[in-house]
Order: sequence, then C-alpha cells, then structure tokens
Amino acid sequence: MSSEGFRLLQRECINTGLCYECGLCAAVCPEKAIELKLYDWGRNPELVKECSCNSCTKCYDVCAAKIVPLAKMEKRFFGRNRNMDTVEKVGGVLRFVGTGCATDPEIRKIGVSGGVATSVMIYALEKGYFDGCVLAGWDPEKPYLAKAYVATSRKDVIACSGSKYQPHPQLLGIQEAYEMGLKKIAVSATPCHAQSLRKMMMNEDLQEISSIIKLVSCNFCAAHWALAGTKWLLKTWLNVEMEDVVEMNYRTGAFPGTMRLRTKDGVLHEKAFVRSGGVAALGRFTPEECRICLEKVGYAGDIVFGDTWCHPALPPNFDLFPPTEEDMKKDSRKREAAAKGLSAIIARSEFGLKLLKECREAGVIKMWENSPEETNAFLTGVAGEKPAWYAPWIEARKHRGMPVREYIL
Ligand SMILES: Cc1cc2nc3c(=O)[nH]c(=O)nc-3n(C[C@H](O)[C@H](O)[C@H](O)COP(=O)(O)OP(=O)(O)OC[C@H]3O[C@@H](n4cnc5c(N)ncnc54)[C@H](O)[C@@H]3O)c2cc1C
Ligand code: SF4
Ligand code: SF4
Ligand code: SF4
Repeated sequence: MSSEGFRLLQRECINTGLCYECGLCAAVCPEKAIELKLYDWGRNPELVKECSCNSCTKCYDVCAAKIVPLAKMEKRFFGRNRNMDTVEKVGGVLRFVGTGCATDPEIRKIGVSGGVATSVMIYALEKGYFDGCVLAGWDPEKPYLAKAYVATSRKDVIACSGSKYQPHPQLLGIQEAYEMGLKKIAVSATPCHAQSLRKMMMNEDLQEISSIIKLVSCNFCAAHWALAGTKWLLKTWLNVEMEDVVEMNYRTGAFPGTMRLRTKDGVLHEKAFVRSGGVAALGRFTPEECRICLEKVGYAGDIVFGDTWCHPALPPNFDLFPPTEEDMKKDSRKREAAAKGLSAIIARSEFGLKLLKECREAGVIKMWENSPEETNAFLTGVAGEKPAWYAPWIEARKHRGMPVREYIL
C-alpha cells in the first residue's frame, strides 16, 4: 500500500495554499482515488481511498502549482523560447498580438469581450479540427457553480460563453472527453490550469490521454475568486441567496459588462459588474494561489484572449467617452470597441495562428494586428500588474519560510 505520490502533492502543493483547483491530479489518477471536495472557500483535492500502486506519482508529476517549467513548455509547444530582450520577456512567445471581435451578432452579444473565443471554437468544431471542446459551463444541478463542459456543437459552445470567475476543476473535463471516446479536443483553461495541462502533455507516461489535446485556449487572468465571494456579492448587491440562482452570468451586455442572474421565482436581477466595483469588492476573496501567481497572459496557451484594459489605443472607457465619428473612420477597431468591447488576442503556436487567420478569412471574426508600439505598451501594462500587486505578498511568504510558485525560464 502506498500513497506516496499523493502525500508529496499534499505536502508541497495542497497544504501550502499553492493548489489552484484544476482537478488534473484527480483526472490522471489511475485508481480514481482523488476527489475535489467542495467547501465554501473552494475545492480541496482529497484522497478518498488508499491507492494500491506502489510507485505511482502521476498526481504529483502533473501538478504545476509549485514548479512551472516555462522554458521547456515554450520549446516543446511553440518551437522556441521567448526572446528576453524584447516584450516577449513579459509577454511570452508571441506570433501575433492584436484585437478582434465576432462577426455573428448573436455571439457578439453574449461573448464577455468580443466573443472571439466562442467564435474560434465553433469554427474549429464545424471544420472538424476538433470533435469536442472542454469549456466552462454551469453545473445543471447547481447552476451557480462553474463546471467543465464537453461541447460538441455550436449550441453547446454558445451555452458556455462568458467568463466564470470562480475556481472549479476545469481539467476534469479532459477525463470526461477521453472517456467519451473523443480523439481531438480543444481545452479552455486559466493560465495556471494550462500549465498543469502542458506538464501532463510532456509526461511520457500520460501520452494516451494527452494525445487527444490539440489546442489549449487561455484567458488573461487577474484572479478567480472563492465561491464565498460570489455568495457574498449576490447577497450584498442583489439580496439574492446563491442557492436560489437558476441562471448566472458574471459579465454580459455592453462592455465592461453587467452581472445578470435569474432566481427560482423567475425574477431577473442585474447590476453593472465592473463599473459598480465588483472586481474590487471581490478582491478580499482572492485565494492564496492567486496571490502568489505572476502569470497574467496565458504563457502556456496556443491562443489567449483577454479584455483590452491597458491597450493604448482602445481604453476601456469607450462606454463612458465614446470616440468621435472621425476617430472611428480612421481606426475601425474603435467603432467595434465603442459598440460592445473587443477581445485582446495572442497567438503563440503556429497552429493557433493558422486557426485565427482561417477564422478571419472565413469571415467568422474580425481581427486587427497591433502595431509594435501598441504591443509593447499593452503587454508591458497587462503583464506588469501582477508583480506590482503581489511581490510584497510573495516576499512575506518567503520570509515565513513558505513555498511560492517558481517559474523556470
Ligand atoms: C477567471 C478569469 C479571470 C480573468 N481575468 C482577466 C483579467 O484580469 N484581464 C483581462 O483582460 N481578461 C481577463 N479574463 C478574460 C476575459 O474575462 C474574457 O474571457 C476574454 O476577454 C475572452 O473574451 P471573449 O468575449 O473572446 O470570450 P467568450 O467568447 O465569452 O468565451 C469565453 C470562453 O472562456 C471559457 N471560460 C470561461 N471561464 C472559464 C474558466 N474559469 N476556465 C476556463 N475556461 C473558461 C468559456 O467557456 C468560453 O468558451 C479572465 C477570464 C477568467 C475566466
Ligand atoms: S493544482 Fe491541480 S493538480 Fe495540483 S493539487 Fe491542485 S487540483 Fe491537483
Ligand atoms: S495518481 Fe497515483 S499516487 Fe496519486 S493518488 Fe492516484 S494512485 Fe495514488
Ligand atoms: S490568478 Fe493565477 S492562480 Fe489564480 S486563477 Fe488566475 S492564473 Fe490561476
């Protein structure tokens, strides 16, 4: 009898507050011995039975919560390492940096920013690049809980659009896709989850499940907020009990978005999310794993999507100060940004870039490349935020002899 792998994982990643609840340890466990138990602050990976394999360390091997082998990942998945003398030092490997939006009005309306993430998944499914996409949906039994969803149709992908700002074991969806017999999938993941995913894909013993993953789509990420934060926000802002929610959307409608939910009694509740200070209010519910995270721009994603905060030409205050007709004539991005908001777009791998270009050529998305000056200003701004916020927190942990996440470049 041995649970050595799990004990190591527990000692180094779980009990130290580094675990970001991706669920991959549970997904790769050959004995199905790990479950992510739900508490109001989030989920905790726990052993639900002793594992009988003697020398297994699979759960420990895939976890990137403590050590993130960035240089190895870049070389393996993007064909080269970032150039430390350019903006790639903070932005990661860059094949394309720009902005875009969906051309389909339905997707444009429901996408959290420009709807590009949703459009690309639908295009790639319909073209046969993938037979399924592991996206983030809602638990049908508890529709206020984010849950991985294996989307196999346009309808499914649309149902999963929008950002789920709460931790959930998104990578359990890979196990589900594998057990469904899917052979080529895309996975949508936060930057931390994508790092564990890449660690698994580099592990020779896990090639059977890894080989079905053809694309990793990431989002920019300031934090996910503990479930207790969502519960508190709903009660404080809208006087709604979280358990009464039957439909939930953190950010929808005009940029930068309105929180919209429906309760069991059929009533619709709404409140501007960003403009009412939702992000700031939820800050106190930022979990420990995010306070030691220096990764904002999805270093491990083939493609990465974000908002246009920090973009020098597309400030996010277009809803308050719309551009003039002349501005919009000169720069068509501004017309789109004023209409709804745009998705910031990064491509890191050749396949990621090919797919985006195909979507543009097929008329599924509009996409504009940044000028080099815009890319420098944008990525320096976005990627510079976390070191500024979290360096003191990280130093304090080190001072107390506690481990922090190590990025190996
Ligand atoms: C936790 C979190 C934090 C974020 N923080 C920032 C930030 O600080 N700055 C910033 O510029 N942008 C941030 N984003 C990204 C932003 O909210 C949008 O996701 C992004 O701009 C893409 O917009 P879109 O309209 O193209 O996406 P959409 O077309 O609406 O599609 C979004 C896709 O992401 C998937 N998804 C949603 N939530 C998750 C999740 N938790 N894990 C995995 N997949 C998910 C959905 O299933 C969908 O397929 C964050 C996103 C998340 C999920
Ligand atoms: S970060 Fe993921 S792989 Fe690591 S312990 Fe947590 S759930 Fe498991
Ligand atoms: S992956 Fe291996 S070591 Fe980890 S819990 Fe499962 S059987 Fe045990
Ligand atoms: S801030 Fe970092 S650890 Fe937290 S969800 Fe985002 S990528 Fe993961």
